[in-house]
Amino acid sequence: MQENNLPAVNGIDRRTFLAASSALAATVALGGFPGSAHAQPITLPALPFADNALEPVISAKTIGFHYRKHHQGYVTNLNKLIANGVLAGKTLEDIIKATAGNKEQSGIFNNAAQVWNHTFYWNSLKANGGGEPPEELKKKMQDAFGDVETCIKELTTAATTQFASGWAWLVLEDGKLAVRKTGNADTPLTTRAKPLLTIDVWEHAYYLDYQNLRADYVKAVLNKLINWEFALANMDK
Ligand code: MN
Repeated sequence: MQENNLPAVNGIDRRTFLAASSALAATVALGGFPGSAHAQPITLPALPFADNALEPVISAKTIGFHYRKHHQGYVTNLNKLIANGVLAGKTLEDIIKATAGNKEQSGIFNNAAQVWNHTFYWNSLKANGGGEPPEELKKKMQDAFGDVETCIKELTTAATTQFASGWAWLVLEDGKLAVRKTGNADTPLTTRAKPLLTIDVWEHAYYLDYQNLRADYVKAVLNKLINWEFALANMDK
């Protein structure tokens, strides 16, 4: 069953209908099998803030398009691509790991990784973010980079030098913080590094607000929106 074909049912909106059918599918899946037509679809997680919560750094218009068109689009495409296949009913993380590096499954990988990366990105941002990181994270930054400013500078460089579409990441690898950048849908989730936070540097993330000035977007995000508490929470997971 494809989400984009779902009608409104007796006045019940699509999201409510999907939630109900997901719950039913989960029950059926208990006695089901991989690839079952009743497998639970991948769903679009709720935004952790209102569309306008990040203004003026990121406009409600950008968030609206980015979340409801781009992020939702990856969810819809992914569910179409995995329908009735062996990956239907698998978790998002399992789908990403199962398809990483497989050229024949790059469509599934790209959409699945983009679903995951975007959810991670929303949680990497918050209104009134930035500023002084929590003490435990600050110590880790000092261990790895010398000081907080150098960590932020390296994140800025990764985000501004990623050629074309991609992501900048703060990760934990072998107990130490590091900065990474990935192209297109690639994600540290398929590596030994544990993602702590990310910045989306695809043009759709900033073009409505900053046009071609990616560096201004990156600087504003790191100064005013980045969610250090989210990064710290991911360190302990
Ligand atoms: Mn994006």
